[in-house]
Amino acid sequence: MIKRTSATIAALLLSFSGIASSPKFVYKPASKDQIAQPNQKVIGSHIERFTKPYEVQRLSDDVYWISVSNYNVSLVVGDKSVLLIDAPHGTGARLLEAIESITDKPLSAILYSHAHADHVGDSSIIANKLKHRHIEVIGTQEVQSALISHGVTMPLAVTRVISDSFHFEGHKINVFDNFNGHTPDNTVFIINNSDRKIIHAIDLVHPDQLEFRSFSNVEDAIAYKHDIDFLLALDWDVMVTGHSNLGYKADVEFVRDYVKDVQNYIRQGLAQTDFNKHFKGDSPFSWYAGYTNEIIDYALAQMTKKYRHSREEEFDIVARSHVRVMFWAMFARTL
Ligand SMILES: [Zn+2]
Repeated sequence: MIKRTSATIAALLLSFSGIASSPKFVYKPASKDQIAQPNQKVIGSHIERFTKPYEVQRLSDDVYWISVSNYNVSLVVGDKSVLLIDAPHGTGARLLEAIESITDKPLSAILYSHAHADHVGDSSIIANKLKHRHIEVIGTQEVQSALISHGVTMPLAVTRVISDSFHFEGHKINVFDNFNGHTPDNTVFIINNSDRKIIHAIDLVHPDQLEFRSFSNVEDAIAYKHDIDFLLALDWDVMVTGHSNLGYKADVEFVRDYVKDVQNYIRQGLAQTDFNKHFKGDSPFSWYAGYTNEIIDYALAQMTKKYRHSREEEFDIVARSHVRVMFWAMFARTL
């Protein structure tokens, strides 16, 4: 009785704190049969996700999340065959096993989110294993061009170029090619299926953790900030991300606020740091190193106060890279 009362008081206290404003994610084992309910995620730590051959979570009647070694893809089941969105390097054989556990329908097409081989490199492995079958490889013009200019040979070349939207066996897939932060060719897809709006957005948000180093080696940190805002503006329910867990709007809001804080603390640091006091020695490199480090150290100290608690290890690995990459992006544009 006493325990129940304490729990009730604790719940009441939480309901008045900021914590209560974040949604209560429900963590359940992955299920290929039961459709994930709103705010449902897949239970298990990162290391557990690595040790399983694969995990499948149903997101709607015909769309599935498949995770292999902490790399995630989407699967769309059509009338006669299936469409795989992305084919991460090193996952091809297990992806085919996972697909066979879901449906008898053959794989007929692979859609690329962007030209990074770690997310699409095993398309060739999959095609080799299915050599009796023709696989259509779908992507935007930008993805097709990026694969050529990168000179990577591992992923299959794009054979069908898409823009605004396209149809796959009864499903309309909306295409958003205006994401430019992670890479200029990064493409986001939204599929409406059985009252669920599923978004496939790769290397932008990593639910349940801080973002990877330099916001996943972002090519343009300012564009990345716009990508996060645009993700929030789009209409969707559940997100398939490239890594980690299922994502929801609250996960994106966390990243939006984190990025906003990085930018605000950099602006404060810029406003209070005097370049002149760093004129020491004869090397412009050392002047700029002293000046920029003072600003970055200031912003990092503010971020530490706000975000390090209870995630010390990951914060210490990635936070400085977040501040540094955003600083240089802002500095170049005098923002
Ligand atoms: Zn990438």
